[in-house]
Amino acid sequence: MKIPFVSLVDTNKKIKEEILLSFEKCFDDGNYILGRNLQKFEKEYSIFSGVKYTLGVSNGFDALHVALRSLGISQGDEVIVPSNTFIATVLAISAVGATPVFVEPDIKSYTIDCLKIRAALTLKTKCIIPVHLYGQPCDMTTIMDIAKSHSLFVIEDNAQAQGATHNKLLTGSFGNVNATSFYPGKNLGALGDAGAITTNDSSLAKRIKMLRNYGSEIKYHHEVLGFNMRLDDCQASILSVKLKYLNEWNSKRTHIAFLYQEYLKGIPEIILPCILPKSSHVFHLYVIRTPERDALQQYLSNNGVETLIHYPIPPHLQNAYKNLGYRKGDFPVAEELSNTLLSLPIWPGMTDDQVLYISDLIRSYFK
Ligand SMILES: *Cc1c(COP(=O)(O)O)cnc(C)c1O
Repeated sequence: MKIPFVSLVDTNKKIKEEILLSFEKCFDDGNYILGRNLQKFEKEYSIFSGVKYTLGVSNGFDALHVALRSLGISQGDEVIVPSNTFIATVLAISAVGATPVFVEPDIKSYTIDCLKIRAALTLKTKCIIPVHLYGQPCDMTTIMDIAKSHSLFVIEDNAQAQGATHNKLLTGSFGNVNATSFYPGKNLGALGDAGAITTNDSSLAKRIKMLRNYGSEIKYHHEVLGFNMRLDDCQASILSVKLKYLNEWNSKRTHIAFLYQEYLKGIPEIILPCILPKSSHVFHLYVIRTPERDALQQYLSNNGVETLIHYPIPPHLQNAYKNLGYRKGDFPVAEELSNTLLSLPIWPGMTDDQVLYISDLIRSYFK
């Protein structure tokens, strides 16, 4: 058996007719930028997320970047970010000239360790960016409490967790402004680059609308230094179709994750993902940990199973961040995770047999 890490074609083909129809409508409509398809999707995503405003933007990185900019965060400001996130979260902080301040993740949930946030705060701290990594919601109750008591902004990085909940509220609805990505492989993915910002604050929504469109509200009148970071109408129309299936697809991901949990339990050499109480994990990724990671990955590859590592090098050790002066050992939890994590295949169309096949291989490796 050959099993890819993910099969987007497999997921997308079931709604091919519907997508082509919506694309045709967009094609005939002739309004490809900031048109009615974008407005429609923004409304639908707001309802889905339980927020007042959604602003479609070009991708997840731009969503984070504009979110930071809309809050006025800039040079001299510090932003708290988990030390084990995807580089985009950190690069967005750099893009506005602010300084990323890394806080270690909790070794069990892989999300930011709330007990370590307070110690990282200084007079320059302006914002916390919790990342719902792999689809696991952060403890937003505690994070919002810390933010409130220190007058900090919160931007959720919800790129990996569309549809996840904490205390029955959706991720992407807690922070002042929240960013998400519709990169094709995300739980809700476009057929190209796309992203969005969600907020309940009308003045921030207004500012973000300008920032994504050359700083302009009225054509050829430019109020602020803006960007071109708009979400295309054709992508928005595709996202409208796919949004209707998101909960169903997330349930399929959860089903696959539970099968893995069943088939893989009791192997002493591996640690399975933990699911926190009071939250729902949407398993953007199914990530196990083992000290024999590299050998296991090779064994699975030899047997036709593709796996990936999210992520092999933590941000503080990337060449791009040499200037911050960090060294190996500065963030031991993030470093330990990067050396032991392995993401197994998971996508909504994956079959139970495929999960069983992979699990049996892992069992036989450790025998
Ligand atoms: C994918 C991702 C992003 C960036 O999204 P793009 O659309 O690829 O720019 C940001 N943060 C996290 C955690 C992501 O997984």
